[in-house]
Amino acid sequence: MTAATISPMALNKQQILSLLQGQQDTWLFDQAQRITSQVFADNVYLRGIVEFSNYCLHNCHYCGLRSANRKVVRYRLSEQEILSAVDNIVAAGLNTVVLQSGDDKHYRSEVITRLIVAIKQKHDIAITLSLGDRHSHELQQWRAAGADRYLLKMETFDQTLFEQCRPKADFHQRLHQLKTLQSLGYQTGSGIITDLPGTTDERLANDILTLTQMELDMLACGPFVAHQQTPFADEPNGNVLTSQRVSAILRLMNPYANIPATSSLEVLTRGAREQALLRGCNVIMPSFTPEKGYVNYSIYPGKNASTIATQPRLNAMFEQINAHGLHPCLSRGDSKRNPHVPRN
Ligand code: SAH
Ligand code: SF4
Repeated sequence: MTAATISPMALNKQQILSLLQGQQDTWLFDQAQRITSQVFADNVYLRGIVEFSNYCLHNCHYCGLRSANRKVVRYRLSEQEILSAVDNIVAAGLNTVVLQSGDDKHYRSEVITRLIVAIKQKHDIAITLSLGDRHSHELQQWRAAGADRYLLKMETFDQTLFEQCRPKADFHQRLHQLKTLQSLGYQTGSGIITDLPGTTDERLANDILTLTQMELDMLACGPFVAHQQTPFADEPNGNVLTSQRVSAILRLMNPYANIPATSSLEVLTRGAREQALLRGCNVIMPSFTPEKGYVNYSIYPGKNASTIATQPRLNAMFEQINAHGLHPCLSRGDSKRNPHVPRN
């Protein structure tokens, strides 16, 4: 059977709610694995991520990088340091770089453009940006310069919950930027944090339906991890199974989307990230952030906590993927969902 013949499952809200309860986990995870295996031929795409700044002007209640957190040691990588981290990604054989940061306007539009042009001149790789809320004209400029993809998670599509968790952030503006990204031809990703304090299964089911309606190229979902230096310090950590269920349901409804297995799964339960690769996920994003920043990109505790050097860490990841009968895949792994979108 070819991948082109797989139809999305049209699950309704009631069916999603029932799957979230967990009584049909065996069926759900089997179906998610079957579809993922058919579409991606058991390949797991690896994307190297460079977390180049942990300064942030936002104050999200869940995140350790929030501006009010005075305890985090802030860092910014220079353009040269970022480019050299990208060189390391290419030297390791990977063909996608993800540039991520707090919402840090210190990196003006021209700086990001310069980085994109420099990367594309030197390497034939895909560039994903994950820089938070930026102006439409910047998104346009970066796309024209060669950026391929953009990841902008809504975290929740429930406006009330969004405003409770992201004070002063503009819900409608963020939603609008996702549409702008799609219209600019970016392979566009969004997603949610599961078990955000105040969420409900009802809200989760709505999130799944909305993410599906948006026909996104990437769907990222990971569990909430409580950070001590945030207003959500005493809230319970998210449930790993709930997050895996959400990814699996998204796979059933979006067979061709790229769905990453997030490191927040791993932080909560050892092995849960690789397990998610057998439950609908097909992407993993090893960090190539240099030592200067690595441990301080502490969006949640346990993130970037490994003391192992980048290459042995990558080798261990390869081994875990192989041990699950899957194949680490270093190619660009462009979206299979909207293949008509021109590639940079
Ligand atoms: N500043 C950018 C990108 C960096 S944050 C932005 O916010 O879009 C990267 C991701 O970390 C966020 O999208 C969020 O989903 C995740 N994150 C932050 N704090 C978290 C927490 N406590 N638990 C789980 N995920 C978290
Ligand atoms: Fe900043 Fe992103 Fe963290 Fe919010 S989630 S505080 S925008 S880094």
